[in-house]
Amino acid sequence: MIALQSAPPLPTPPHLAPASLDPPSIPANAPDHCPGTESEQAGKADACAGCANQAVCASGATRAPDPSLPLIAQRLAPVRRKILVLSGKGGVGKSTFTAQLAWALSAGVNPDGHEVQAGVMDIDICGPSIPTLMGVSQAEGSVRSTAEGWEPIYVLPNLALMSIGFLLPAENSAIMWRGPKKSGLIAQFLKDVAWGPLDYLLVDTPPGTSDEHLSAVQYMKEAGIDGAVVLTTPQEVSLQDVRRELDFCRKVGLRVLGVVENMSGFVCPSCKGHSEIFKPSTGGAQKMCDDMGVELLGKVPLDPRIGMSADYGVSFLDEFPDSLATKAYLDIIHRLKEKLDE
Ligand code: SF4
Repeated sequence: MIALQSAPPLPTPPHLAPASLDPPSIPANAPDHCPGTESEQAGKADACAGCANQAVCASGATRAPDPSLPLIAQRLAPVRRKILVLSGKGGVGKSTFTAQLAWALSAGVNPDGHEVQAGVMDIDICGPSIPTLMGVSQAEGSVRSTAEGWEPIYVLPNLALMSIGFLLPAENSAIMWRGPKKSGLIAQFLKDVAWGPLDYLLVDTPPGTSDEHLSAVQYMKEAGIDGAVVLTTPQEVSLQDVRRELDFCRKVGLRVLGVVENMSGFVCPSCKGHSEIFKPSTGGAQKMCDDMGVELLGKVPLDPRIGMSADYGVSFLDEFPDSLATKAYLDIIHRLKEKLDE
């Protein structure tokens, strides 16, 4: 088993050269008219005046090619679709959505008759919840390093998972890492996890637009990201952060596949009555999507059984196939697949 102690060196599979653990060069605070950190104008353009990153951009350090990129591209070449799952704010159900999406995708069959192969990479370094949501305990999640690389944990024979949660010495251990160390781990996950051929790789990110997001976009850019799904709840306080998330996607050139409004009304499992618990007082996700020019993939109503399924680490869609929330999930996934094929 690979276990992280306080500040451990991570093992490197023998067949790959050590990765650069330098932080990524895309800054979180680049101004709107940033000419691009890798452009010849980086640090020198008028837009760079006053930017906090000007010294590092002007030094040329951000233009140096990262040696991890071709290794990551090579590793992810057998992965057909790579999708980031984002949210502006915590607590909107992003990781639960990722888990349900993974269960649903892995239940599918490809046109050639083979079952879909899916993977989930949990890069929420400070709050890795995907192992719990997918029913894998820390003991079951012992990661082994083989000649091929780090073996992911198989939730199902065709559903693989890798999370920092598997590398902690104890389930309640806190991770207190600064940006470069987080970036190093994400690079290592991308470079060293032996996913094998996958139809879908879902990357579950922490809330906001921080080191983890920048690192994922930077390190996966040669491999190619198909797009991002952004989760929100109906209230303005969540939508505000989603607008920032969409702006982040625009700045880093990440395609937005669509927005999902989660906790969108409450459906009583007994009487099927509908009520608004989180009121969309400013028009909800639909208005925000109209304003921002992105698609609303769908709305998932609150259902207390979703939380219960998450606690037990089982697929809500399998357990409650007749729920209105299940129908909403499946409609969203159907639309998402259509968008990926466009
Ligand atoms: S200094 Fe760097 S990050 Fe800031 S605007 Fe210029 S290129 Fe962009």
